[in-house]
Amino acid sequence: MSRHEEIVLVVEDNQQIINFITYVLKQEGFSYLTSGTAQGALSAMVSQHIDLMLLDLGLPDFDGMEVIRQVREWSEMPIIVVSARDQDREKAAALDAGADDYLTKPFSATELMARIRVALRHLSQMAKNQPQPVSTVGELSMDWEKHIVTLKGNELHLTPLEYSLLSLLFKNIGKVLTTQNILREIYGVGYGTDTQALRTLMAGLRRKIEEVPAKPRYILTEIGVGYRLVDE
Ligand code: CA
Repeated sequence: MSRHEEIVLVVEDNQQIINFITYVLKQEGFSYLTSGTAQGALSAMVSQHIDLMLLDLGLPDFDGMEVIRQVREWSEMPIIVVSARDQDREKAAALDAGADDYLTKPFSATELMARIRVALRHLSQMAKNQPQPVSTVGELSMDWEKHIVTLKGNELHLTPLEYSLLSLLFKNIGKVLTTQNILREIYGVGYGTDTQALRTLMAGLRRKIEEVPAKPRYILTEIGVGYRLVDE
């Protein structure tokens, strides 16, 4: 079994979920700490070295959202929110407050590890601070120096907005981006509510990169939350 150096803080008050998550982490060779309260999580953050937080939002003392806000004042540490199904608004709010991703209960060991790997990879890339000259997902590539996008080796003709949108997704491969977050990045402040504009832009981009735009392979829709460029 390979050991990881990273330490995961599991913030959760449901013992069954704690047991499941810690079982999976142990299997995968991760070290972990657990806290059943928001206050305990914040205390652990200042007294221990922690690389990633799995955070339940419904905690007995105060809301997990508040944990995100407080941690984000001084740390870029990846935070993955663990949320109940049908809480799309909450998921989007958590991401906008600075969470990196979310898992919807119930989730599988595979989903849990996939989210953790993506978050830790982003962390190590940030630490290295050496962007790749070309990013690739499947047969889709973005050449950052030449500013061109290719699909199966053929250059695509994207509009400047489509290019901005795809660049943003490529900078966050595997991570979900909220609609609000994308709008802010693409159109700037003041266009933050025009979700229809984003839908239209996304449809145009998908027509160029997806074989079957209605069944996208590259850019997935996270219903009620936003979009994610797949991590292959
Ligand atoms: Ca809870």
